[in-house]
Amino acid sequence: MSVYLVFVIVFLYLVWIKCIYYQHRRTLAKSLKRIMDVVSGRETDGADVRALIVTAHPDDECMFFAPTIIRLVELNASVHLLCLSEGNYYSQGAHRKQELLNSCAVLGIPASRITIVDHKKLPDDPKAEWSVSLISSVIVKHVRGHSFNMVLTFDGRGVSGHANHTAIHKAVSHLASTGQVPHDCCLLSLVTVGLFRKYVSLLDLPLSWLLTSSLCCAVTSQGYRQAKAAMLCHRSQLLWFRYLYITFSRYMFINTFRMIPQGPKNLKIY
Ligand SMILES: [Zn+2]
Repeated sequence: MSVYLVFVIVFLYLVWIKCIYYQHRRTLAKSLKRIMDVVSGRETDGADVRALIVTAHPDDECMFFAPTIIRLVELNASVHLLCLSEGNYYSQGAHRKQELLNSCAVLGIPASRITIVDHKKLPDDPKAEWSVSLISSVIVKHVRGHSFNMVLTFDGRGVSGHANHTAIHKAVSHLASTGQVPHDCCLLSLVTVGLFRKYVSLLDLPLSWLLTSSLCCAVTSQGYRQAKAAMLCHRSQLLWFRYLYITFSRYMFINTFRMIPQGPKNLKIY
């Protein structure tokens, strides 16, 4: 009897996930519109979105942001990547750069839309404290230069807690609070979930769907295969635990974002 009950519960849970996917297909464009309209005050659709994903290292784009990139590309958004280091921790910078280009090609970002920063003050190192003002100036120049209207990056916990990830969040929050971001640009931070939720793969979808967020991007098995193929491009990083991550991480299927609140525009700091 109890086995029968468990079977029914699992079955209903999977049906629920299927329904959420169906609902998500129809509502993602609306969510984007809502976010963009709030910021720009005009009607927008997927093709109007010029999104910039800001990451710290080659492989962040597919480890953490793959569902978002895949879904935005599907909606004909123009998706760009700004990676703030070459990932030179083990002196493999040039190799990792190529892996990043390959991974992005799989996700749908052409090389012409990728910028990789190689700055001696922004080393790939969890112990290095990246300068918030330096990162801020790199990001704001890039946003203004390319007229992006959406910036997506890590939140204050940086998903894995890596210091370089959290430094980017501090820089973007600084830009937001000091009004340095163009008026039609929205800022979104990727929600870090707890350890249990992080490793239950797509079973986390109902909770992600129910909890309040500004944007939720989820991919089906086809999108998952694309994300996995992108992960496999980073051959230099494929240690055994990476395979566990690919199999169990919720970030291979789901991303949720919160808006980073912005202060008054063009605020002068004295
Ligand atoms: Zn990273």
